[in-house]
Amino acid sequence: MVKKVLKFGGTSVGSTERIQHVANIIKKEVSSGSKIIAVVSAMAGNTNELIKLSNEISEEFNKRELDVLLSSGEQVTCALLSGALIKMNIKAKSWLNWQIPILTEGEHTNARIINMHVEKIKNYLDEDGVAIIPGFQGISKNGDITTIGRGGSDATAVAVAKIFSADSCEIYTDVDGVFSTDPNKIPVAKKIDKISFDEMLELSSLGAKVMQSSAVQTAMMYDIPLEVKSTFTERKGTKIFNQDNIDYSKSVTGVAYSKDDAKITITGVEDKPGVAANTFEPLNKAQINVDMVIQNISSDQKTTDITFTVKRDDVSKTIKILKENAKINYKEIIYNDKVAKLSIVGAGMVSTPGVTYRMFRALSDENINILAISTSEIKLSVIIEENNILKAIKKLHTIFDLD
Ligand code: ASP
Ligand code: MG
Repeated sequence: MVKKVLKFGGTSVGSTERIQHVANIIKKEVSSGSKIIAVVSAMAGNTNELIKLSNEISEEFNKRELDVLLSSGEQVTCALLSGALIKMNIKAKSWLNWQIPILTEGEHTNARIINMHVEKIKNYLDEDGVAIIPGFQGISKNGDITTIGRGGSDATAVAVAKIFSADSCEIYTDVDGVFSTDPNKIPVAKKIDKISFDEMLELSSLGAKVMQSSAVQTAMMYDIPLEVKSTFTERKGTKIFNQDNIDYSKSVTGVAYSKDDAKITITGVEDKPGVAANTFEPLNKAQINVDMVIQNISSDQKTTDITFTVKRDDVSKTIKILKENAKINYKEIIYNDKVAKLSIVGAGMVSTPGVTYRMFRALSDENINILAISTSEIKLSVIIEENNILKAIKKLHTIFDLD
């Protein structure tokens, strides 16, 4: 008998009508003979509202209590979904994180699932019941309620699929699947039928919001195939699995972008060992995430320029730290916070020559200046002026046959 983990995101359970719709999806699965564990998010917007309430009490609201507060969202949807199934004469039961329990490790609001007790739920599945589990939470060694980071229900679903050795893990959401680029911006964007874990990981860390990156990472680590599909249409979704299962007919799978980047250049820094380390160490300590780094060859063997990108929100903090850094000498600090990162991602790139050149040519044909470049085996990213981003996505989407 097939055992499935079905995860329903916030919009999928955003109202009681929608919860009843989800119950119908589960009913169909049960009638076709599958054993179902459903993992649910809180109703859309609910987690944000709870955070807002906590902020009204204090901007530094106690983290242990924040976890107690935030975990309540999923408690609501678990009970409503279970109730909806029971009303349809389907045997169903909800569990809370501490009743299972789902064991986590790490700090409050950012814990990780390390294990889960399976017995009660396994027995219930054997009695042909549908088990409903809250996403996004667990308990610590001390029995305190924890949450595992925003968007964490994806991670719960993957962990449940692993621990229960499920045959499939389906992520139900409000879009049809993973797209070749943002369908809201580029209407010719196409749904991708199959994508590898690596590509999905690149796309989600580059800003495609379909799935939480760390959940994809866990799925990749344990080789748990995923399927992202819509709660609201019957269309086929996107399958995410091991690269060996994919035939690459195209070199590029998707075009991703992020608009909240900034580029900082430090000119006239000394060209000697330790300078880069001394520059970036304090940024790392301040938890500023540095993305691309480019160091020019020094023409006089004495000084050089270092350019790097950070998130736009971190610009002023970064510049302040650089200015206060007594370990580095430089001429000036220049920044541009109106830049965007544009990336092409594709496991087929490895075996296709000329992808880099075609991307650069395409941008030059559109008269778009490249401000910085970084590459990995399956990704090529450039920094460009933010106002060129739409034009650039459209062009790349077309020349790499994705329209
Ligand atoms: N409700 C949590 C959030 O909004 C977890 C999730 O939906 O995945 O972040
Ligand atoms: Mg989500």
